[in-house]
Amino acid sequence: MSSILEVKDLKVSFKTYAGEVKAVRGVSFDLKKGETLAIVGESGCGKTVTAKAILRLLKEPPAIIKEGSQIIFNGENVLKMNKKRLQHFRGGDISMIFQDPMTSLNPTMTIGNQIAESLIIHKKIKKKQAINEAIRLLEIVNIPNAKERIKSYPHQLSGGMRQRVMIAIALSCSPKILIADEPTTALDVTIQAQIIELLNELKREFNTSVVIVTHDLGVVANFADRVQVMYAGHVIETGNKYEIFYESKHPYTWALLNSVPRLDIECKAELHPLKGTPPDLILPLEGCPFASRCEYAMEICLEKKPEETSITDSHRVSCWLQDPRAPKVERPINLGG
Ligand code: SF4
Repeated sequence: MSSILEVKDLKVSFKTYAGEVKAVRGVSFDLKKGETLAIVGESGCGKTVTAKAILRLLKEPPAIIKEGSQIIFNGENVLKMNKKRLQHFRGGDISMIFQDPMTSLNPTMTIGNQIAESLIIHKKIKKKQAINEAIRLLEIVNIPNAKERIKSYPHQLSGGMRQRVMIAIALSCSPKILIADEPTTALDVTIQAQIIELLNELKREFNTSVVIVTHDLGVVANFADRVQVMYAGHVIETGNKYEIFYESKHPYTWALLNSVPRLDIECKAELHPLKGTPPDLILPLEGCPFASRCEYAMEICLEKKPEETSITDSHRVSCWLQDPRAPKVERPINLGG
């Protein structure tokens, strides 16, 4: 499969009164045509900043995308796009679904007009045709009585329906890439499952590549092909879904997996929340970014950042435990306290 998106050595900082917050520190990955890549990690790990940087949605300043960073979409450098090209790129080539549809939708416009607006801008079609297309899109995202619903304002819809409207807007111009930033976090559990199912169906139907940003490993298990684990602005492990869930090699990934209930293994032990806090991203980071919370940390971990090691063609990890000289450690699975 060829890549539709390549992110190379992406570095993003924010200027603050306290100093420069280095939120993303040399992140590289690619997205293949038709695949779903999940970016996971705790709040503040840099996953949303990475997603917004791809769409050039970060306000510069205070954000600074550092020299040498590259974001390549279909061979074109996104960081070099002019204003006009960028306007078509956002919506026409790539769309984003945000966490909270209530704050993303315009409360003063009907949902029909909001979907139509996107179509008029990007597809250059007349208003009447755009409204008919809006009805069709609402039907695709399973909004009942779409002909009547297009006249509704966002506050007249439930949270799940609003997120369906956001998905309809995002898909209105048949983008090649859909970026979903915590798309189910603001929803009830039953509605979350429906939205994930809908995204899965639409991805198959439209053959869209998807980047899903989430801290919810249940969403990852149901939706992703490949997973990228981020910590303190770094990618610390990447692999296909099975490699991450069953063969993970990084202590932070183990901790993430051990902090959620598992139904696929018999285990009566308690869950293990990860202790401590991520490092201050203003301060310089020496060694492994996870060292202060890692129970396997060795002397070298405090001094030198681990290199990336390839475990398989698709599985890569940055941890000194993968160095041939390191002691062998088995992944603990929900060990009792
Ligand atoms: Fe832990 Fe060292 Fe691996 Fe970092 S490099 S995760 S500190 S063992």
